[in-house]
Amino acid sequence: MDKQKTLDELKEEIIIARLPLSENATNIVFGKGNSHAEIVFVGEAAGKNEDLQGVPFVGAAGKNLNKLLLAVGLSLNDVYITNILKYRPPENRNPNDDEIRTHTPYLLKQIMIIRPKVICSLGNYATKFFLAKCNPDEMNKQPGITKVHGKVKIIEIDGMKIKLIPLFHPAAIIYNQKLKDEWEKDLLIVKQELSQKTIIG
Ligand code: URA
Repeated sequence: MDKQKTLDELKEEIIIARLPLSENATNIVFGKGNSHAEIVFVGEAAGKNEDLQGVPFVGAAGKNLNKLLLAVGLSLNDVYITNILKYRPPENRNPNDDEIRTHTPYLLKQIMIIRPKVICSLGNYATKFFLAKCNPDEMNKQPGITKVHGKVKIIEIDGMKIKLIPLFHPAAIIYNQKLKDEWEKDLLIVKQELSQKTIIG
């Protein structure tokens, strides 16, 4: 399968679907990076800069993410980066239930095309979505990121076993050295998990 072409087709499918939030957005913010990556990072939703450029994680949080990835030897070429929501919520407010319900089936399709070994969920929304077995109705029963960051969990998506590693959101750690230290420790776990060949499910 030509993964990049299939992703491009999926992006067109989303635009045609006219999802909630699409009317007020400048651009769809679909994803960036390597379509063959073994690791996918999933954030929450686009901010102002992402909406203007149509690319995830290009603002302050994105610059921080790049720096942190480089520090452990990962570049954009090694990873794929996307969000729970495919459009920016007004004033960067939190995603609502309806938006999560309508946007996440496309996130799952992205993951099924890329077929990564590891998913790093960034922050509470992405983490709770995957811990809830991708069922938005179960998200509010899941523990928060402070409890589960850096803890590896095997999840199953479309019959694929994938290692989920929750991380703090890169925006949360910009001004918080303690969280940044935790992030760096967690990222070493990510590297270690990536270097293992098989998944013990
Ligand atoms: N924060 C996110 O969660 N995603 C982005 O794309 C940018 C900031």
